[in-house]
Amino acid sequence: MAAPTALVWFKRDLRVRDHAPLAQAQQFECALGLVLIEPSWLRSPECDPRHVAFLLDAVAALRVDLAARGLPLLVRVGEAVPVLQALRDEFGVTHLLSHEETGPGWSYTRDLAVADWCRHQGVVWREWAQTGVVRRLRSRSGWAGRWAQRMNALEAPRVRGFKGPAGLAPEPIPDWGDLGLSAPAVQPPPAGEWVAWDTLQGFLAGRGRDYRRALSSPLTAETACSRLSAHLAFGTISMRCVHQATASTLLGTPDRDLAYGLRGFASRLRWHCHFMQKLEDQPDLEWRNLARSVDGLRPGDGVHPDPVNQALLQAWCEGRTGYPMVDACMRQLRATGWLNFRMRAMLVSFAAYHLGLHWREPGLFLARQFLDFEPGIHWSQMQMQSGTTGINTLRIYSPAKQALDHDPQGQYRRQWLPEYGSCAYPEPIVDERTALARIKLQLYGLRQQPEARAEAAAIQQQHGSRKSGLPPSPSRSRRPPVVDEAQGSLF
Ligand SMILES: Cc1cc2nc3c(=O)[nH]c(=O)nc-3n(C[C@H](O)[C@H](O)[C@H](O)COP(=O)(O)OP(=O)(O)OC[C@H]3O[C@@H](n4cnc5c(N)ncnc54)[C@H](O)[C@@H]3O)c2cc1C
Repeated sequence: MAAPTALVWFKRDLRVRDHAPLAQAQQFECALGLVLIEPSWLRSPECDPRHVAFLLDAVAALRVDLAARGLPLLVRVGEAVPVLQALRDEFGVTHLLSHEETGPGWSYTRDLAVADWCRHQGVVWREWAQTGVVRRLRSRSGWAGRWAQRMNALEAPRVRGFKGPAGLAPEPIPDWGDLGLSAPAVQPPPAGEWVAWDTLQGFLAGRGRDYRRALSSPLTAETACSRLSAHLAFGTISMRCVHQATASTLLGTPDRDLAYGLRGFASRLRWHCHFMQKLEDQPDLEWRNLARSVDGLRPGDGVHPDPVNQALLQAWCEGRTGYPMVDACMRQLRATGWLNFRMRAMLVSFAAYHLGLHWREPGLFLARQFLDFEPGIHWSQMQMQSGTTGINTLRIYSPAKQALDHDPQGQYRRQWLPEYGSCAYPEPIVDERTALARIKLQLYGLRQQPEARAEAAAIQQQHGSRKSGLPPSPSRSRRPPVVDEAQGSLF
């Protein structure tokens, strides 16, 4: 009988350290690694060549690190089931080892097909959690405690050496041209495990000192924020390693400013998993409003009879709305692939409240722009900033106030909008006062409906954060539950 052969399927976990499937593969007589570049991903409306370029860079680095340990890394282009079948035929794969993934609809469907294939082929598929997201979660109560337990657990054993199949020549890694993609409009920053650790260490060694003071202004956030999001999204570093390195710096540092900054950062690591958990628990939140009571509010939500206003959407996407702070943010995002939290929230709030756009189309556009696109965070935030969760405080960001608070001298706007202040700059595309008055009236009215209140209570029960990890006490208030889950004020 042939020796058991393990295939480590790398997905959003392109690293060697703290990699449970890889550690497990050391127990096998024979092991191989696989990165799949799936046409379903390339064709998906969230995917952009910048994501592919970042992934390929990370894969090149991973292949070198794995080769040093004797594990060949195959890079195959194709849908999962036919590629797995070919590898089973070629190498006699008996075990498939991977991390769990909380991805968009296409990856969920693919996982079902892979599970089915494994069952029919007698291949054992083992999956490990790599974040705080819990599969088949029954209740949100106690979630924060489980998150802390996972993050404080020992990392996966270090990998030393493999007995890979002998004489396997490395296949070339395709580039985006081979994949039929156009060149990325944004050249992404370098990827890979070493870059991720370097970024983390730079932040913990000093950059983090200014974190809380500087994260809101687009002038300072670029250097004051950790800039780990793309590394976390592609898994070139594990959430557990980031959490533990932060906790040990916090324990050891005498620097009070640094400790203050890092405490704020540490809590956001939990938010990362908190938002992903929502998509894990309710996969359709990437398509439909969490609160069905607001269906029909905006064109494009699947219920409203009118089509999306393409002229408004286009102006927003191109950064020519006539609102300088909004346009400058959009230009920065398009040019760099990154924007800080507050300015992301302002862009979405503007699309939702000023322009009256439903979040799905703007969300797809932003997903392609954000190098760190993480579906669970992204779609939850899109809904939250558009007022369609039913449970969060309605946040309407005033672009003028953001400019006053975070770019008082106009330096940022001048940097990203060369035409700002000249007659080439357009007039505001909508009248702020009229637009906000209308939508606020509609939304507050909808939220007062008894059905909306009942629905909000159910949504809070399923998705809301719990301060203590204990079940929430029954509310005596007649107001619907409103939860403030992430920073921001009016905003
Ligand atoms: C509409 C919208 C869409 C977003 N889409 C994404 C996305 O696709 N991917 C993504 O990683 N973040 C997303 N965010 C959250 C946040 O803006 C980014 O995580 C952050 O700006 C990334 O920069 P950083 O790594 O320097 O963050 P830091 O401020 O240094 O935070 C460290 C890490 O904590 C997590 N984090 C920080 N803020 C949040 C938050 N509010 N919610 C959840 N996790 C958080 C991220 O993993 C981040 O990398 C979105 C926010 C909004 C408003």
